[in-house]
Amino acid sequence: MMAVSALMLLELRQDAWDKAEQTSRNLLQVIERDVARNIELLDLSLRGVQDNLRAPGLDAASPEIRQLTLFDRATSAQDIGLMMVLDEHGRPTESSPRSPAPTGSFADRDYFRVHVARPDLGLYLGPPVVSRLNGERMLPLSRRITKPDGTFGGVAVATLKLSYFRRLLDRLGLGRDGAINLYHRDGTRIMRHPYVEADLGTSIAGTANFERFRREGSGSFTSASVRDGLLRHYTFTGVGDLPLLLNVALSVDEIDAEWRTKAAVISGVVLVLGGLTIALVVMFARELERRTGIEAELARLSMTDMLTGLPNRRRFEDELDRAWGRAAGSGRPLSLLVVDADHFKRYNDRYGHGVGDEILKGLAGALSESVFRPGDLVCRIGGEEFVVLLPGTDGTGALSVADRIHDAVAQVALASAGIGGGSVTVSIGAASAAQARDAADLVRLADEALYAAKNGGRNQTRSAAAPAATAALRLVHARQI
Ligand code: GH3
Ligand code: MG
Ligand code: MG
Repeated sequence: MMAVSALMLLELRQDAWDKAEQTSRNLLQVIERDVARNIELLDLSLRGVQDNLRAPGLDAASPEIRQLTLFDRATSAQDIGLMMVLDEHGRPTESSPRSPAPTGSFADRDYFRVHVARPDLGLYLGPPVVSRLNGERMLPLSRRITKPDGTFGGVAVATLKLSYFRRLLDRLGLGRDGAINLYHRDGTRIMRHPYVEADLGTSIAGTANFERFRREGSGSFTSASVRDGLLRHYTFTGVGDLPLLLNVALSVDEIDAEWRTKAAVISGVVLVLGGLTIALVVMFARELERRTGIEAELARLSMTDMLTGLPNRRRFEDELDRAWGRAAGSGRPLSLLVVDADHFKRYNDRYGHGVGDEILKGLAGALSESVFRPGDLVCRIGGEEFVVLLPGTDGTGALSVADRIHDAVAQVALASAGIGGGSVTVSIGAASAAQARDAADLVRLADEALYAAKNGGRNQTRSAAAPAATAALRLVHARQI
């Protein structure tokens, strides 16, 4: 149960991470498309400036006509800061209508100098700058202007307000500790959501995370944030072929949070169920043990004679069958003695049933002490009738046991009733497996021998007749006290 739950929890966690990764990818795609599209539009305007500067008669036109010719309507969009043309010395010659006319030299700006150095650069997208005109943060885009003779003729510059990125990113929700970052390839942070002014313009160039963004271009990994040390899962991508890097950083804690709650609930339930199961098993095992004990005791009692504590007739029958099977299988001898108290009725009549019972106990004791082998079994099979089962003992051995029984019975006495030693006697019938066809036959033979002993005057042992002469009971051993 626990293993299955653990697997399930792992699966759930994987799902949570897959979902987070998918969400991040979707966000990146949306942002990337928007940024790439807007920059492309702005670049188109820059190309327009490049082309239109070559329009015939432009030099002679009034400033208003020149503005209308050079800068299309896109330049008046909300997010466009300024669009201007710088001459080869970095001085503004034209600018888009909305902005206050720029003055001074921009020759020190990267977006100017880079074109001086590299004529074939094409579109340059620089790290953010702070506008000299209004203090706003802008992302500069520039293209080189080439004179008809092929020499450097200045640059066309357009700036994109960082507020554009802020608006774009702020539309997206990411949890408390999630973040979206837009970096310039040089490591400068252009924008971060959630917006904190101090984050802008800082550089994370050289950090392991940033090197990985730059090296791999797109992908995902989990790492501690450079900014606040929080463990985050970064999914990142470039923006078209612009020198921009975009990442969505989700807090690992937040990705796991929902899963953790589920895991806690499921683990709790599984533990409680497991605990209950174990408790039930323990209770059940105890009950089973108790019942097994009771059953064993009942079985023992059902096999025991309550008066003498000897095994009873049922036990005898079981053991006889078993002993017969063993003897038949091994060829070893097996003997049986049937012992019956002589004139026992008289004791009851004379001394009462209680005394009779005491004598029976005495007889049980006498019989028990007359056998020594572990396999020997003394049972009380009826009122004053006992059997002694002697596995591994032949007829001769059985007769010597019978002798010992007569001796032991002679010691039975009950002083309180005035019954002295030697007054209680038994008759014994002996039979051996060698004489019998089966277990029942063995009992029958021993009974017949007992009958003969009674008829022969009691207080003696008779053996069953040999198989050759089954009809006549042969006196093997007789003993008178
Ligand atoms: P025999 O020598 O022929 O065996 O004579 P007997 O009196 O022993 O034989 P019988 O079978 O006629 O009588 C058995 C008597 O044993 C009957 C009963 O009074 C007595 N008896 C049987 N079971 C018990 C018992 O549990 N307790 C007592 N006190 N007496 C019992
Ligand atoms: Mg009797
Ligand atoms: Mg009897």
